[in-house]
Amino acid sequence: MKKVLSVLLILALVAGFGLVGCKKDVAETSGGREFVTIGTGGVTGVYYPTGGAISKMVNKKSDEYNLRVTVESTGGSVYNVNAIMSGDLEFGIVQSDRQFQAYNGTADWDGDPQKKLRAVFSIHPESVSLLASDDSGIMSLEDLKGKTVNIGNPGSGQRGNASDILTAAGINPDTDIKAEGLKAAEAAGMLQDGRIDAYFYTVGHPNGSFKEATSGTKKVHFVPIEGAAVEALVAEYPYYAKSVIPVASNYPGATNDGDVNTFGVKATLCTSADVSDDVVYAIVKEVFDNLDDFKALHPAYSVLTKENMLDGLSAPLHPGAKKYFKEVGLIQ
Ligand code: GLU
Repeated sequence: MKKVLSVLLILALVAGFGLVGCKKDVAETSGGREFVTIGTGGVTGVYYPTGGAISKMVNKKSDEYNLRVTVESTGGSVYNVNAIMSGDLEFGIVQSDRQFQAYNGTADWDGDPQKKLRAVFSIHPESVSLLASDDSGIMSLEDLKGKTVNIGNPGSGQRGNASDILTAAGINPDTDIKAEGLKAAEAAGMLQDGRIDAYFYTVGHPNGSFKEATSGTKKVHFVPIEGAAVEALVAEYPYYAKSVIPVASNYPGATNDGDVNTFGVKATLCTSADVSDDVVYAIVKEVFDNLDDFKALHPAYSVLTKENMLDGLSAPLHPGAKKYFKEVGLIQ
């Protein structure tokens, strides 16, 4: 009996390793069912629950579509674009500015346009948000000079936005501040511990990171990002627009008097030209046909309409998305 059990165990282990080793060929299509993964961001952001919301909508119909959507926490937009392009992820949530830069070969993809990147739809607005401790005395961008500031990990979207706005304000991110490259999920704790003075996060509101950072014992506030530097960025780049952080309603623990001006982008869902039309169609259809159910899953989606979910896309639409949008008359 013991022998039989150990033989069975060995067989099970071999089968298990087989699945891991040949993920693409075996696991992703086991029983004819396709498995796709959406890359998101840190667990205290809005991308992670957004991946969860999309997968929830689609997985209700798993049997009908023969499709199962899973979600992965990642380093953010830049990581997601690169993982989609290498085939490690089928989908990723990507800031609209990063989508534009990747497809056109600028910024992190300078001279290396990602021509297989495809747009699916856009989601919630994201604000370039700067949160500082009250004791740091940081009340404006100018006050960041000499301070320890988290501008974001290299795979994140916010790192580029922080660098853009600092540069536009005449602050050199390499020499005028002590720039940290922490992941967003670590930043709130580091601010509360006094190990950083402020952090940038390009993100929808409300989110877990700022809820955590504004409910600790250390007093903190959002720093307005406005004036000539923002005007210049909005005038120069098609993907930047002015925005407002609804502080009072979302973060009662912040010491701000009212809402705070800044600028921002949009979160978008991206994929690769190599992902099948059927899979992309199924995801778009489930989210758009049931948009009210989807919107109930996160307060950051309250402003979404079917029409504005086609704004902010700069890579070509994936044919699976195009097919759905044509069917329902959203595009010609
Ligand atoms: N916008 C951030 C990034 O691209 C992620 C925000 C979030 O996780 O909600 O890295």
